[in-house]
Amino acid sequence: MSDDCLFCKIVAGEIPSKKVYEDDFCLAFDDIEPEAPVHTLIVPKQHFNDLQDNVPAEVLGRLLATVPEVAKLKGVYESGYRCVINIGPDSAQTVQHLHVHILGGVRMGRFTFEGSARQA
Ligand code: AMP
Ligand code: ZN
Repeated sequence: MSDDCLFCKIVAGEIPSKKVYEDDFCLAFDDIEPEAPVHTLIVPKQHFNDLQDNVPAEVLGRLLATVPEVAKLKGVYESGYRCVINIGPDSAQTVQHLHVHILGGVRMGRFTFEGSARQA
């Protein structure tokens, strides 16, 4: 648990969420501002700032193994969906607790970007 981390508070039950799935390692809950008909987040229960925060392979494995399970629960397993992990400022990561977005329920275009390319 990291002080003042929104998702740690959701994991602890201090902030309510619309829970989709839970096991020893992970919690999945619906995004509060969905950007697709299905927009669910999967977080490890342990706090990591992002994918670059020395996350043990076991946690990463469990996190990714949960993705298809959540897709089944949300009804997008057959139709397909997109997983997104934002990391750092250019990705517009807003919550500094590692999480996987599951987006689905709609035909998606390819990736879109705002602004101009970063100079090398
Ligand atoms: P990211 O921009 O990748 O850090 O994604 C953070 C996501 O958390 C955003 O899609 C937010 O809509 C979502 N979010 C913020 N607060 C909550 C909350 N209390 N419950 C569920 N999702 C949230
Ligand atoms: Zn946290």
